[in-house]
Amino acid sequence: MSRFFSDKYRDLTPYTPGEQPRDNQYIKLNTNESPFPPSEKAMTAAEAKLGKLMLYSDTQCTDLVAALSETYGVGKDQVICVNGSDEILNFAFMAFCDKDHGAAFPDITYGFYPVFAALNQVPYTEIPLRDDLTIDVDDYIGLGKTVFIANPNAPTGIALPLSDIERILKGNPDNVVVVDEAYVDFGGESAVSLLPEYENLLVTMTFSKSRSLAGARLGFGLGSPELIRDLNTIRFSTNPYNVNFMSEAAGVGALSDPEYMKRNCEYTKEVRAYVTERLRALGFEVPDSSANFVFAKHPGLDGEQYYLELKKRGILIRHFSVPRIRDCNRITIGLREDMDALLAATEEILAEAGK
Ligand code: PMP
Repeated sequence: MSRFFSDKYRDLTPYTPGEQPRDNQYIKLNTNESPFPPSEKAMTAAEAKLGKLMLYSDTQCTDLVAALSETYGVGKDQVICVNGSDEILNFAFMAFCDKDHGAAFPDITYGFYPVFAALNQVPYTEIPLRDDLTIDVDDYIGLGKTVFIANPNAPTGIALPLSDIERILKGNPDNVVVVDEAYVDFGGESAVSLLPEYENLLVTMTFSKSRSLAGARLGFGLGSPELIRDLNTIRFSTNPYNVNFMSEAAGVGALSDPEYMKRNCEYTKEVRAYVTERLRALGFEVPDSSANFVFAKHPGLDGEQYYLELKKRGILIRHFSVPRIRDCNRITIGLREDMDALLAATEEILAEAGK
């Protein structure tokens, strides 16, 4: 830390992203990326924008906002486009929280929430999940805080039904409820249908997972025109050019190819069912996942050891050094052959451990 670093950030512990090795020697199942390339339509559209890069990008994201409004059946004034959904999560902490208006989220959830809270000096409450890693909705009624719920949750993969999301919205009418639907296309129930009824609902989504565009850094939010206006105030006060031309075009291209996304999600769901069953047969505890990953724990295997043994064998999964889940690992669902390699390596590791 330099002597110039602001006091307000002295205690900040930044988010630790999953490893991104520069070589190709790993089977990468650690950051929930899609194993499929972007849609041809996304690639062609992005390429066509190369010659426009001398210009600043469109601050209104006109084409993408129009395509998203059409895809999700909401008004254009209900859409905001961002540089990865991480950006809108940060915007939400900036826009809807402060030292007198704290945030609340589960103790086991997306690791960026507490980081954004700390970055923005927002006090936060971490509400413990039940022992089976599910959310007890009763804990979220009348909180008087901005609520952040990943649905499906990460890293557990467990989804809440829409009726529970609605109870949380009803139970916090004077606070914004942010429903982070980064993984919704893999089996969750989207809260978008609740938008007409709840002015306190903000749904965030991403092109990073089901639409295979993690490297494009493209996300979006859907909410009431007033919430979107607030978020735009923050966006225009930080970086109005947050979405570049190529990513915007890639997003429009991806939305024009819904069949491709659907096919890829169906594939992932099938492989997820297969991996879940095989891991359970090997003695792992694996909650039913509605996302493109599973969260697995073996009673006879130290979680970090399992991660390290797989890494030695060229397979990367995600281990979190968080006490409550240190025996668990999050495993992205990749291609069937990559998952077979994971399962074979797992059998070997279990045999070596005498399990
Ligand atoms: N929400 C959740 C729950 C996530 O796991 C992620 C990805 N790590 C994000 C949001 C952010 O994704 P992106 O910034 O790539 O849109």
